[in-house]
Amino acid sequence: MDILVLNCGSSSLKFAVIDTGEGEVLLSGLAERLAGPEALVSWRRGDAEKERRAIAGGDHAAAMKVVVEVLREHGLQDELRGVGHRVVHGGERFKASVVIDESVVAEIEKCVPLAPLHNPANLVGIRAGRAMLGELTEVAVFDTAFHQAMPKHAYLYPVPYELYSEHGVRRYGFHGTSHRFVARRAAKILGKPLEETALITAHLGNGCSAAAVLGGRSIDTTMGLTPLEGLVMGTRSGDVDPALHGFLKDQLGWDVERTTKVLNKESGLLGISGKSNDMRTLEEAAAAGDERAVLAIEVFCYRLAKAIGALAVPLGRIDALVFTGGIGENSAPIRAKVLGHLGVLGFALDPERNDGLARGSQGPVTQDGSSTALVVPTNEEWMIALDTAELVEATS
Ligand code: ADP
Repeated sequence: MDILVLNCGSSSLKFAVIDTGEGEVLLSGLAERLAGPEALVSWRRGDAEKERRAIAGGDHAAAMKVVVEVLREHGLQDELRGVGHRVVHGGERFKASVVIDESVVAEIEKCVPLAPLHNPANLVGIRAGRAMLGELTEVAVFDTAFHQAMPKHAYLYPVPYELYSEHGVRRYGFHGTSHRFVARRAAKILGKPLEETALITAHLGNGCSAAAVLGGRSIDTTMGLTPLEGLVMGTRSGDVDPALHGFLKDQLGWDVERTTKVLNKESGLLGISGKSNDMRTLEEAAAAGDERAVLAIEVFCYRLAKAIGALAVPLGRIDALVFTGGIGENSAPIRAKVLGHLGVLGFALDPERNDGLARGSQGPVTQDGSSTALVVPTNEEWMIALDTAELVEATS
């Protein structure tokens, strides 16, 4: 079934037509710099050359109009059966993907305080989609939904209970679509029903999070109320002492906004290295003897390994540790370093497997007889398309 997948940011709109059978991308594109003088839609049909259309000053609605035109020109519009929207925050209301109607839109709006940058942009995409493709079933797929299976003792912060019950202050977790996709693939590779697996999934891209997935359900994860908690990321600090805001206010006069910005945009790999948020660049710099790049990589891997150790506790056993995301899929040195810290959990690296894995392929990187670590390329668009197709079928 052909599904249009939309991922709307504040000034961008990513789109792809996916054939859910094998996840083939029939056409994909990006509308960027929306509402500015350089607004532009670009797309690629299969392996063909990239094409572009300027829409100076065009907003999300104008971009959607071009997307529909492009789909029509390529003969794809008539084949479409549904539209899947990535939505960042579904709060406690959404535990799975849903068909969008007015009440769903209202509930997504209620979640805006939890994701003030992302949910409004997602809603703009939903409205633009409904205006242009209203006759198709539209589905919302939430980054948070997969982690709604977490038990209360995993998602509550030890702060006054009313902050949770009256203001929704709790751990939600993110990257759920990716964790869910790779958990399903990992079960296939292991040759076990998903319901019988105990997995730790590590999504390592610009943002990074890990999850404990038992029987196909997330029972704990490293991200929290916001995507700042947990692992070291490209520009995000992950866990720091919660007293840091007060300390920096007293010592440097920084207000809350400044510290929050520094923790989100100037920390993580970039903050420690002072050079880059990009792991590839840091690996090159480290190889050339840059000590701060070496340090950034060490802190990244050490903290990730510690978090994996912590996630083993709720799982009780580990059938596989799964590496995914740009870093997890492509960086053999990072996988080697992380596994080097995890001998206590029975992991033993197989350097040949680890170094020999071709880009985009999946498979084990540990020795037979040791605990298993796998590389599984993620594919959030395909997961969104699969959820959408399932709901289209259920409602038709
Ligand atoms: P996003 O979270 O934005 O989707 P990606 O999943 O594409 O990002 O991950 C981006 C990260 O993956 C960057 O830090 C990039 O340097 C890293 N990366 C991609 N390829 C490699 C590689 N071959 N070696 C090391 N890091 C890589």
